[in-house]
Amino acid sequence: MASVAIDGPAGAGKSTIAKLVAKELQAIYVDTGAMYRAIAIYFLQEHLDPEIPEDVEKVCAEVDVGITYENGVQQVWLNGENVTARLRTEEVGNMASVSSAKQPVRDKLLQLQRDMALTHPVVMDGRDIGTHVLPNADVKIFLTASSAERARRRYEELTQKGEVCDIQQIEADIVKRDLQDSTRDIAPLKQAEDAFYLDSSELKIPEVVDIILKKCRETKAWK
Ligand code: C5P
Repeated sequence: MASVAIDGPAGAGKSTIAKLVAKELQAIYVDTGAMYRAIAIYFLQEHLDPEIPEDVEKVCAEVDVGITYENGVQQVWLNGENVTARLRTEEVGNMASVSSAKQPVRDKLLQLQRDMALTHPVVMDGRDIGTHVLPNADVKIFLTASSAERARRRYEELTQKGEVCDIQQIEADIVKRDLQDSTRDIAPLKQAEDAFYLDSSELKIPEVVDIILKKCRETKAWK
């Protein structure tokens, strides 16, 4: 099946862009970060510690993560419960950043991610899609933006929701998360050798989407 892999750091706009690209290509959008977040919810709700190997084993033995689509929108299931609405909190994101660095957690989700790409045309985003999950993806994009621009976007998103926040603190958190994700031993965030590097700092959303669609149309798989 045809596939597009979009990797990049937190806040680069991967999910916004990937959703739009998937719509244009009539593919499904697979948000792998959401799967790691679902497992993070389990660590949090069971008060288990991702730094304790027995706890990691216990979580991996007990969790069942499933993905379905409702009107084209990905729904994430954790042991039969739809947890989609609970995924996008700072607490869950921070736990996901730690627990996703554990090999049993990654092993648990790898097959689910690969199976989705075997059965559907996909646009999949994450950190290691082009390097590890789908090494033969038809198109690989490494989507990034400066930390200042990513902080600005996040700041706008939060203030629009009425949250009070400090842009400098947001940028500091982004830099910390980047370092954590790119220096970890297991599945670090890094550009695949054959990925197209795309810096969106100075680009508008439709411009980024167009660049990626153009790359797709250049391949046999997405013509
Ligand atoms: O992309 P999102 O912020 O939802 O991802 C949450 C966390 O899950 C990231 O900080 C990253 O550590 C982890 N992740 C990962 N591999 C992926 C997707 C996400 O390690 N393919």
